[in-house]
Amino acid sequence: MNRTPTKTQSASPGGTASPSLFADALDRLTAANEIVRVDEEALDRLRRPRFVSLASIPLRMDDGSLRFFEGYRVRYDDTRGPAKGGIRFHPGVTLDELQALGLWMTCKCAVVDIPFGGGKGGVTVDPKTLSRAELQRLSRGYIREFADVIGPDVDVPAPDVYTNPRIMGWMADEYSKIRRARTPAIITGKPVEGGGIAGRDDATGRGAYHCIKELEKLQGWQSGKVRVAIQGFGNAGQSVARLLHADGYRIVAVSDSKGGLHRPEGLDIPALVQAKGETRGLSGVYCGCSVCECSHCGREPADQITNEELLELEVDVLVPAALEAQITGENARRIRASVVVEVANGPVTGQADEVLGANEVLVVPDILANAGGVTVSYFEWAQNKTGWTLSIEEVHERLHGVMTRAFTDVYARHRDHEISMRLAAYAAALERLGAAVDAQGTFEYFAGGR
Ligand code: NAD
Repeated sequence: MNRTPTKTQSASPGGTASPSLFADALDRLTAANEIVRVDEEALDRLRRPRFVSLASIPLRMDDGSLRFFEGYRVRYDDTRGPAKGGIRFHPGVTLDELQALGLWMTCKCAVVDIPFGGGKGGVTVDPKTLSRAELQRLSRGYIREFADVIGPDVDVPAPDVYTNPRIMGWMADEYSKIRRARTPAIITGKPVEGGGIAGRDDATGRGAYHCIKELEKLQGWQSGKVRVAIQGFGNAGQSVARLLHADGYRIVAVSDSKGGLHRPEGLDIPALVQAKGETRGLSGVYCGCSVCECSHCGREPADQITNEELLELEVDVLVPAALEAQITGENARRIRASVVVEVANGPVTGQADEVLGANEVLVVPDILANAGGVTVSYFEWAQNKTGWTLSIEEVHERLHGVMTRAFTDVYARHRDHEISMRLAAYAAALERLGAAVDAQGTFEYFAGGR
């Protein structure tokens, strides 16, 4: 068998050829340090991933042929607790992207002050081209390759783009088989029946919803008058759409990878959610229909629009909930929303940030806005480790508490220091991360200073 061996590498100092997502992420960290000034050693620690693994994952296809897929796991930082971060199955997965996502996860866990570091993983694959059985073998194969570098107290994966509770269930099962012990705390976002927690499914969207409700109070919004456009109608996008719609917000546009729908009077979100849910191509793994094929799913017909058009609509709140780098230096000038809530990770590039800032667009950054998912993942992990279970009401109440506390802290820094909410969130994260590195001892301590 001509199999490329698995390689596990120590990470080299960060920074790939610019422009890169990772370089962009590092720039934001550096800018935050201008505000909080942590120890130079702490910043140095956070400027590079702790450990990076790469594997060629063999996959026996249904027709008998053998293919290999590049898989990665980045343990970015574990100073504040085990690394935590999703696994992404997408053709665009690269190491540069995963390093950026790992750094963002590190900062996100610090912003909401949960005892985790940050990590990320992924496979460069178009999972929609795989059969159900092939997808299961790939998911189990990923765990076989990385079983030695993950663990409930080391690095704990979760779902991300094009991975979901079913896939997490397969992965947790594979890890338990390898360890010959039931080990549900290895992974979060599992099906409730397989050791998951009630309320994890919509936690990311719910966390963003709590941020929007806090803004509602601050800005004196009346929900019925607020127009919202949402790019990405997957796990996170659908949840935030459903919760805002139930509250009376006017969701005027939604989209997915194939295109979107626009209706200025507001879309029938429950009908769209139902249509997506009913047409899962691979029996519960991926949805087979696009929202743009659902122009008559609601009570009134809606217009078809492209993803680019959705971003530039005249709305009050724009929610990018798909992939990175959707709002760039090229289209930022044309954004007409007054508030952008980043449910996706990294949807606004550094260049775009400057343009949006100059145009007084308020951006609620990803490391705050989408932290609801990892927060409930933390509850699930704690539940798996202790054996105690939380009811859905308890999960909702605790998530509400964590999100409003974090939002209030970040908003106060933004207001008091007259800085962007992104910089304020990074400053909050860096302060906690810096204190954790400092607690282990830095030059200051070892050179006898204090
Ligand atoms: P998902 O796979 O459930 O949904 C992704 C959605 O994006 C789908 O509707 C897909 O059609 C759409 N999409 C893909 N490519 C697109 C494109 N080029 N243009 C427009 N839409 C496109 O994924 P998800 O879990 O909802 O994740 C979405 C984003 O939220 C990602 O950035 C992810 O990192 C972030 N996020 C997710 C979670 C979570 O718990 N699921 C937590 C934090 C952050």
